[in-house]
Amino acid sequence: PLSRQPVEQRVHSICPYCGVGCQLEYQVSNDRIIAVDGRSGPSNEGRLCVKGRFGFDYINHADRLRVPLVRREDAPPKGAPFDPAERDRYFREASWEEALERACEGLVRLKHQHGASALAGLGSAKGSNEEAYLFQKLVRTGFGSNNVDHCTRLCHASSVAALLEGIGSGAVTASFMQVVNAEVAIVIGCNPESNHPVAANLFKQAARNGTQLVVIDSRGHSLREHASHLLQLTPGSDVALLNAMLHVIIRESLYDHRFVAERLEGFDALQAHLDDYSPEAMAPLCGIDAERIREVARLFARAERAMIFWGMGISQHTHGTDNVRCLIALALLCGQVGRPGTGLHPLRGQNNVQGASDAGLIPMMLPDYQRVDNAEARARFEQLWQSPLAAQPGLTVVEMIDAIHHDQIRGMYIMGENPAMSDPDLNHSRQALARLEHLVVQDLFITETAAYADVILPASAWPEKSGTVTNTNRQVQLGRPAVSLPGQCRQDWWIIQAIAQGMGLDWAYPGPEAIYREMQQAMPSLTHIDRERLERENSVTYPCPTPDGEGTDVLFADRFPTASGKARLVAATLLPPDETCDSQYPLILSTGRLLEHWHTGAMTRRSRVLDTLEPGAIVCAHPLTLREWKLQAGEAVRVESRRGAMKALLRADEAVPPGSLFIPFCFAEGAANLLTNPKLDPFGKIPEFKYCAVRLAPTPPP
Ligand code: SF4
Repeated sequence: PLSRQPVEQRVHSICPYCGVGCQLEYQVSNDRIIAVDGRSGPSNEGRLCVKGRFGFDYINHADRLRVPLVRREDAPPKGAPFDPAERDRYFREASWEEALERACEGLVRLKHQHGASALAGLGSAKGSNEEAYLFQKLVRTGFGSNNVDHCTRLCHASSVAALLEGIGSGAVTASFMQVVNAEVAIVIGCNPESNHPVAANLFKQAARNGTQLVVIDSRGHSLREHASHLLQLTPGSDVALLNAMLHVIIRESLYDHRFVAERLEGFDALQAHLDDYSPEAMAPLCGIDAERIREVARLFARAERAMIFWGMGISQHTHGTDNVRCLIALALLCGQVGRPGTGLHPLRGQNNVQGASDAGLIPMMLPDYQRVDNAEARARFEQLWQSPLAAQPGLTVVEMIDAIHHDQIRGMYIMGENPAMSDPDLNHSRQALARLEHLVVQDLFITETAAYADVILPASAWPEKSGTVTNTNRQVQLGRPAVSLPGQCRQDWWIIQAIAQGMGLDWAYPGPEAIYREMQQAMPSLTHIDRERLERENSVTYPCPTPDGEGTDVLFADRFPTASGKARLVAATLLPPDETCDSQYPLILSTGRLLEHWHTGAMTRRSRVLDTLEPGAIVCAHPLTLREWKLQAGEAVRVESRRGAMKALLRADEAVPPGSLFIPFCFAEGAANLLTNPKLDPFGKIPEFKYCAVRLAPTPPP
């Protein structure tokens, strides 16, 4: 076994999976990673979960792309079933010169024929900050539009929209480590034991030391065993429950009067709005007893220090922004922001979704959340980048798909994202990818998306690169290369720059250090966080007020970064899910992740240990649901929605409420997103992954 080989080199880096950002040590022998161990980073203190510890051998998988590929002239049509074993029927190997020339020729041609808005780019939250920055700069200055986005649109875009609106900042107000200082912590719409496992350990530790954990979720999960209060609400009823809690806090005058008077705007309007949301009125909607709602509202409001953590059970709804508005109002009304043990914390998903968003990989914001339609902000970046910039916000992930269908977008460059698995309503998304006149994909494998490409550029995996990432706590951390690039793979920053040069831009960055220095010029958030400092200290929290001092863990002690310095309370109205159940489609589907697999599975399904633990597509249902449908656990079933169908094995799971199904979206052979609803939240433009109507087909096809 690899682990018995002598360790020749120990390289300190960061886990490439979730937003916890655990620091780790790659143990290397003969230019291969043979083991991974935890290091004492601020967010993990030596711990790693199963993904961080065992999910590293994907980089050596036989599927790994090692040379550039171009689509053959005589390839089967795009959209025809792709069989990786017959790769050579679809693609042929090419030199870097040929592949780049073909990639750039298509992008330049479409821009000249149809204008800048005919192109779009999807960057990656799995790359470094430097790569995210460079990618969005390429789209803005090379493509000439703001059509650039990434997977934040599918996870916390609604959280960011509500946070920017309410408190003027889209990041967490305090790290999750502050939970140990909290008397009460609400953990709502998230399953940290699967998705942020090392943070979940800290929640449990806090609970053991006296923090009261209030777990609110429609799907019961194992953190419930550590909860002082468990509210298993009806799917999609978060606004009803949270408004009822706000109603109690205002009616019983439990709010922080001084904080409200000195630091908030919008109290009177919120108070008037909440009149109709008594616990008695909301209890039937959310399925929680009115007295229980009062009890939890009082508990939160009376706590000296309280925090709120949330995940995609909150954000992935057509009313996701409203859900977050309620959470913000809850924390603000009770003065639970700005002190140790208080705060608002959306648990960010990917390892660098915070950093990629900060770096401007979003269609309406330049780096550091400067709006593209703000002339002053644009002028600053035009000066720095020596390029005119478009003022019109670009299209988001799902909007791009619709724009392809309407021939508004004709060419795309996709780096490290897999919309053919991650987007809602996959039949619609895959038809769009097949319709593109030119698609350049930069990735580690021929992903489900790369199968539609005209050019595939072999990229670098995280343990092969140098760069910074920013975790959910706003901690900027440094990843270091542990092993060499295989075959003809190239660094992602190098490939982006080569595309930029091929499109006529005079870029000449010698490496990620120079890119980071430019980022520091563009992004005040990185002030005092030099690469040299990160080399020494490994992790610095932004904002960091002094060159040597610690970064600021708990923000907004005195004022919020808004024009008035005050935060804004925004009322949320009760809205039903976009698609409700009926006799044809009587079951509610919610999608999500598993502990062992990461997002669309491109990496973890090629990691031997992780794929052995969870080897195939599953559908989870409560035993009562199985009984009602006369089905057995382990049976193959077909799940159908109004948009598509998929097959998987049934798993009995008491955490899933009766009448609902839960399907992980990581399995290509049973792709959950064939079923999901693409309807968007109007503010965050995030699809409703957490609610659509489905049915189980009683007889699975052969
Ligand atoms: Fe990696 Fe997240 Fe697990 Fe830490 S908790 S090891 S960052 S996947």
